Amino acid sequence: MTDCVFCKIVAGAIPASVVYEDESVVAFMDIGAVNPGHTLVVAKPHVADVFGLDDALAARVFQATARVARAVQAAFSPPGMSVYQANGAPAGQTVMHFHVHVVPRWPGDGMDLVWPVKNPPREELAANAAKIRAALTH
Ligand code: AMP
Ligand code: ZN
Repeated sequence: MTDCVFCKIVAGAIPASVVYEDESVVAFMDIGAVNPGHTLVVAKPHVADVFGLDDALAARVFQATARVARAVQAAFSPPGMSVYQANGAPAGQTVMHFHVHVVPRWPGDGMDLVWPVKNPPREELAANAAKIRAALTH
């Protein structure tokens, strides 16, 4: 996609500080880095979100994510690490090309995800689980 910033990076048309690359994935420093070492792991094909990943690409992306996370951990020794991935604007996605954030974390670094726990009743959890099981195609 010509107007996609991550496709431009994959194509080498704009600069990026690359830390890892293989035939399916490229990982580079996030230009808006929350903390030193904040890295994006990006699928090379233009896939908008997690729903567009086939099994092979999903496996390659997560294998690369774990590898990059180990390297970031070794390089920066943070006491915590967030692995974060957003799909769709309501979830906070701003670049519509699939990517995973690897974010080394320190206490008080200002990164926050509001997570209002609602503790639904067991019957509701069971009904929701049944709905998802029915939607699984394999
Ligand atoms: P998200 O909000 O999850 O879609 O994250 C998109 C991320 O892409 C943001 O953290 C941006 O800082 C980052 N970003 C946007 N453009 C570039 C770029 N040219 N190089 C590196 N990171 C970028
Ligand atoms: Zn793209």
